[in-house]
Amino acid sequence: IPEYAFIGRSNVGKSSLINMLTNRKSLAKTSGRPGKTQLINHFKINNQWFLVDLPGYGYARVSKKEKKTFQKFITSYFEKRKQLVSAFVLIDIRLEPQKIDMEFMEWLGENQIPFSIVFTKADKLKPGAITNNAAAYEAEMLKVWEEMPNYFITSSSKGTGKEELLKYIDQINKELKNQ
Ligand code: GDP
Repeated sequence: IPEYAFIGRSNVGKSSLINMLTNRKSLAKTSGRPGKTQLINHFKINNQWFLVDLPGYGYARVSKKEKKTFQKFITSYFEKRKQLVSAFVLIDIRLEPQKIDMEFMEWLGENQIPFSIVFTKADKLKPGAITNNAAAYEAEMLKVWEEMPNYFITSSSKGTGKEELLKYIDQINKELKNQ
């Protein structure tokens, strides 16, 4: 059964997005800090696919050792998961392009791991600002990539983007079945 991995900086809104996609009101937050207890959660969606909840990166107050542990962990996840179809990299739409996100996406690219971007917290900005910020990201991405990856604009508090995301995944799953 195909897997889709969700990942992003801590506080990007990953738990909220997963709650939105899985129709949960609240979900025990197990991601906490890297290197602590359970790191990965799997959610089976419609008996069709697994949503994989990976720990957040970019914690400000973690030691070098914890960062290393986290990197190893994430690297080994991506290397081992044969069922992984695509990753979704969550990015707070309010922020300017962040080095840590750019580097993470480059790493995915180098490792031939397909991904989409999920911009979060769109309700916090006016439409014009969303367009501007998405364009700023695109400009930054185009320095490294030939084209802007597929992206979604979401708000977990408003339910924005939920159907598009779920449809996108269903569509890929259908194509995989028909192969
Ligand atoms: P995580 O650390 O990435 O799992 O992030 P959380 O889902 O816990 O969200 C971090 C903070 O952002 C919380 O205070 C959430 O209420 C808030 N948040 C998450 N998603 C949204 C959203 O779509 N809109 C708004 N306005 N706030 C959000």
